[in-house]
Amino acid sequence: MDKMDYKKLANLLLPDVKRTAEYYENLYPKRELKEGAMVTRYAPSPTGFQHLGGVFAALIAERMAHQSGGVFYLRIEDTDRKREVEGGDEEIINALNTYDIYFDEGLTMEGTERGNYGPYKQSQREDIYKAYVKYMIEKGNAYPCFCKEDEMELSRAEQEALKVRKGYYGKWATCRNMSFDEVQDRIAKGQNFIIRLKSPGNWDNKIILDDLIKGRVELSENDQDIVILKSDGLPTYHFAHAVDDHLMGTTHVTRGVEWLPSASIHIQLFKLLGFDLPRFAHISPILKMDGNSKRKLSKRKDPEIAFSYYNQLGYPKESVIEYLLCIINSNFEEWRRENPSESYREFIVRFDKISPGGSLFDTNKLNDISKNVIAYMSAAEIYELYLKWAIQYDNEMAELLVKDREYAIRFFSIDKNIPKPRKDFVCWMDVKEGIGYYYDELFYKRVKEGYDFTSRIIKRDIIVILQEYLKIYNPNDDKTMWFERIRNMAEGFGYAKDMKAFKRNPENFKGNVADISTIIRIAITNRANSPDLYEIMNIIGSNRTIERIENAIIYLQEKGA
Ligand code: GLU
Repeated sequence: MDKMDYKKLANLLLPDVKRTAEYYENLYPKRELKEGAMVTRYAPSPTGFQHLGGVFAALIAERMAHQSGGVFYLRIEDTDRKREVEGGDEEIINALNTYDIYFDEGLTMEGTERGNYGPYKQSQREDIYKAYVKYMIEKGNAYPCFCKEDEMELSRAEQEALKVRKGYYGKWATCRNMSFDEVQDRIAKGQNFIIRLKSPGNWDNKIILDDLIKGRVELSENDQDIVILKSDGLPTYHFAHAVDDHLMGTTHVTRGVEWLPSASIHIQLFKLLGFDLPRFAHISPILKMDGNSKRKLSKRKDPEIAFSYYNQLGYPKESVIEYLLCIINSNFEEWRRENPSESYREFIVRFDKISPGGSLFDTNKLNDISKNVIAYMSAAEIYELYLKWAIQYDNEMAELLVKDREYAIRFFSIDKNIPKPRKDFVCWMDVKEGIGYYYDELFYKRVKEGYDFTSRIIKRDIIVILQEYLKIYNPNDDKTMWFERIRNMAEGFGYAKDMKAFKRNPENFKGNVADISTIIRIAITNRANSPDLYEIMNIIGSNRTIERIENAIIYLQEKGA
């Protein structure tokens, strides 16, 4: 076919496509960016399952754009209508909003859009893609394919038998050299067609991709006449990627490593369309240790892969983000130690520090980070966030919290404003266990199942010690006096009042003052470990303190101490 015929062919195949590629080139002018500013995107498909890998990839893209003074946008890739799930768009936006991963452009929760390069949902860009498909046909770089599914299957079976590469290429690309007349004839007969790329590539040639994460990658040139426009009028991922990332001005394509093998198709498409090539950064999946080997986080085996898992357990968003940054760039941890109070947004994420083989997920690390994040929150912040979580996941707790905000703030404030605040909670799910004793409802419910008097002191002694404590307890004591009384009482029972003396000659004592405090602590909180006991007693008040000690005594007596 000569040039004229290609034009004719394009009009025959896409008669309704009036707007040209040039029109769209003018409609979406090049972005004005300062030197070094990156334009990145998160381009998920609305398949309904938001996973940690998505948040991971979105965070990398967002950080790269914003730390360089560029633009980060969200594009919904819904050209595969079969995989689409109702509400999928909202779930994606919700995941980004939950973690404060701000996108400058894209679809919003309200169903509107922000940004000048939209629509940001591929299914609404049909006309745009078709203009570029038409351009490809006019240039002789694309053609119609009338092959039916059974013909394709036959061809696949033959390729299998001959043990040759599968696909639509070379002699297998049977529609590639169809004459204009034949195309016209088939169309007149009402035959359906799709549009394929007429690949100029040679499989034996190698191309080099300098990937920003994977490094230098050698790929075979593409020779497959891949589909660019499907029978439903929508493009394939490959074609949409080229058109969108070009028109939307993406400078850096960050995406899953599963796209790396097809990068040779993309490079070819960009060239044929006359587009500048963006830089590529292919992200490997998050891995997990399984025995001695690493494997991909799996949807089936690992609940922590689901984005919802972190919400359900109540990990603060900062914990998840800080943790992800840790596995994105391992030097984040050191930076965080040196800059404990800076926003994570001050940390510079680097492509060359992302593990090319895949970052390793480690729950213990996440929990350590989260403990730290919560420890440095103010009591009021803990209250608000915990309440918000409880409203959704723990009604009983939410009701107790709402009843008396000040009360909760008081106990969340214990040991707060000190250089090393207590690290009590990993996530909101943990909190109830740690604060239940402040509420009689929860305390007595648990006590019914028994007290945790596990200390080496025999029960009879515990009763006597608690009875004695009731006699000497004075709610008006300051902390020094309060402790002095406990120490003196310890001494009276033959326990060391002073730890140094105890350590020197433990054989001289039945135990030490800590054993005595633990007994009182367990009677009041039913826990061997708690924040400052003096503060707890003050917060719950003397009546409840006495009541609880009495209750413990009765319990022990009934249990036949
Ligand atoms: N929609 C593609 C996916 O979800 C995105 C690939 C890309 O970021 O280009 O895998």
